[in-house]
Amino acid sequence: MIDVKKNINSILLSIPNSVTLVAVSKTKPNDLIIEAYNSGQRVFGENKVQDLVKKHEELSKDIKWHFIGHLQTNKVKHIAPFVKLIHAIDSIKLLQEINKQALKNNRVIDCLLQVKIAKEESKFGLSIKDTEELLNSTEVKTLKGVSIVGLMGMATNTSDNKQIQSEFQQINDAFLTLQRKHTSLKTLSIGMSGDYKLAIQEGSTMIRVGSSIFGSRNY
Ligand SMILES: *Cc1c(COP(=O)(O)O)cnc(C)c1O
Repeated sequence: MIDVKKNINSILLSIPNSVTLVAVSKTKPNDLIIEAYNSGQRVFGENKVQDLVKKHEELSKDIKWHFIGHLQTNKVKHIAPFVKLIHAIDSIKLLQEINKQALKNNRVIDCLLQVKIAKEESKFGLSIKDTEELLNSTEVKTLKGVSIVGLMGMATNTSDNKQIQSEFQQINDAFLTLQRKHTSLKTLSIGMSGDYKLAIQEGSTMIRVGSSIFGSRNY
């Protein structure tokens, strides 16, 4: 049996208070999410729009739902009324659609830009140069329905800690540099079950942890 409460508490004990724990509940049933909720956890992450909408409907309304996956433009409207933070923005087109749907709902939606730091081909995200260009573009500045509050990244899936550390270092360097000009950047979302301790050493302010809380996933 998986002890969700024990897992959350042991993670919280090992991280600074200033770091936000996002409990990644993707593929997991409501009863496990409720266990986490009952131990005090309020921030949860999902990566499928359909699952996120369903869980939002079924579970307590004071949960802060983060969307952590690759978001398709045509699905933004389903989560725009309630989503607290969208982690993985990698195009201006997506930002424009989030802006449109946010304004329809009289909201400003917080977003993170996904920076590609991993060496793997398949990972989504912007280069550091494109991230900077996007932040500087006049187009983005006119979007009143979105607030870009930080950066998000995923390290290469490898057992080589030196490589993971250097990837996290790269994104943190970019984050600190961009922050000087863009003071709205507050959040650096890096670190998952296997690498959150390294991520925190390298400046993470938000970790996204799934399997270390809820057990491994069967897709
Ligand atoms: C699934 C997922 C996580 C959590 O992964 P674990 O290794 O289970 O902690 C974090 N971030 C993103 C973007 C994910 O898709």
